[in-house]
Amino acid sequence: MPKLDKVLIANRGEIALRILRACKEMGIQTVAVHSRADRDLKHVLLADESVCIGPPASTESYLNVPAIISAAEVTRASAVHPGYGFLAENADFADQVERSGFVFIGPTAETIRLMGDKVSAIDAMKKAGVPTVPGSDGPLTDDDERTLEIARRVGYPVIVKAAAGGGGRGMRVVHNEEVLLSSIEVTRSEAGAAFGSDVVYLEKFLQKPRHVEIQIIADGKGNAIHLGDRDCSLQRRHQKIIEEAPAPGIPPDLREQVAEACVKACIEIGYRGAGTFEFLFEDGGFYFIEMNTRVQVEHPVTEMITGVDIVKEQLRIAAGEPLSLQQDEVRFTGHAFECRINAEDPQNFLPSPGKVTTFHAPGGLGVRVDSHLYDGYTVPPFYDSLIAKIITHGENREVALARMRQALDELVVEGIRTNTPLHRDLVRDAAFADGGVSIHYLESKLED
Ligand code: ADP
Repeated sequence: MPKLDKVLIANRGEIALRILRACKEMGIQTVAVHSRADRDLKHVLLADESVCIGPPASTESYLNVPAIISAAEVTRASAVHPGYGFLAENADFADQVERSGFVFIGPTAETIRLMGDKVSAIDAMKKAGVPTVPGSDGPLTDDDERTLEIARRVGYPVIVKAAAGGGGRGMRVVHNEEVLLSSIEVTRSEAGAAFGSDVVYLEKFLQKPRHVEIQIIADGKGNAIHLGDRDCSLQRRHQKIIEEAPAPGIPPDLREQVAEACVKACIEIGYRGAGTFEFLFEDGGFYFIEMNTRVQVEHPVTEMITGVDIVKEQLRIAAGEPLSLQQDEVRFTGHAFECRINAEDPQNFLPSPGKVTTFHAPGGLGVRVDSHLYDGYTVPPFYDSLIAKIITHGENREVALARMRQALDELVVEGIRTNTPLHRDLVRDAAFADGGVSIHYLESKLED
């Protein structure tokens, strides 16, 4: 059984700090790796050891596999936690970490590959009884008649998607038959250039869906449980802005049924670690779109309503220990929200890096702040603009939302611009307060 005595954190910002906190609590030593622009990151200052792995550009630091592996070697780390983003869903990285003798805190490279290809992921899900979007059931071939027939059966509008696509790229909505074949050709060639694979498939384009996802944890030895769902429909350009758990208005038996199918899928594919099944939810139906094989930004809302520390579970699983609880021991209590505070202009959304002269975090009962900010910290211009996650929990949705209003009013970040004004506005929005807005709601509100 692998002993997890020292974990190298292959990430930065709030999630690196989140991982460090879990490690410290479990008595695990920590190694921070950082770029030259990140010497002053809070977790770097708190880690037992730190190694500079390259210049500011993430391609030369946080994505620099040989530098990260050598840092693990010189510090004699036992495991690597990839966080989210960067190398977290890179199967080759997972492979190299394990081949170099370290534990990769996540699923096997094989699982990451299976889920990274959307066609094989959908196929695996269907086999386990997870509901998917009606579509081509596999890659589109060069048999044009067959393709036209599939689209007719599915019904327009349809969406053509690259099997290897990601980050909201490699997709094209098609409204009628006249442009279907030409749209497929364009998506194919774009996908070939961007992702190195021109495999595309087709599915029904849902017009007003919500984004609802299910959190699971699995030990890779046949045991898996779910930790309920989250609604992440408030998005701008496919970037989530506010998340909540549980997803409002979902009938409990339907949630349970879909979550159980996800658990079954995990057992069937031998899943190991924390993972998320992402669904579009429309007219009372769940439609699987993809699986994320890592911890997610919004994991805290699930932690707040279940009391389960997801990062600690990841560490336990990586150490070969059993999950700390069974399905019938999971208790769902109350409601939680998360607001993602970004260093960006609230009007035009342009990044706003620079020195934070004052940072005052909100507090009080049911308020949690996951942030690496401190007075005098300089937000570098090279990375993602997420600087803080404000999370609130309450015995019901109204209480959690009222706490979020107060928490956002207490938050002070001076020296840089942030999207706090947008959040303050959104938590007072009537439709949002009612719950269950679609993934297009925020963008249409911003257009008004
Ligand atoms: P990526 O891996 O690029 O994030 P996804 O498959 O998760 O791709 O899709 C990203 C987003 O595109 C979804 O969150 C949703 O907004 C939209 N989308 C994807 N598939 C559909 C569909 N069948 N109908 C409507 N919207 C879709």
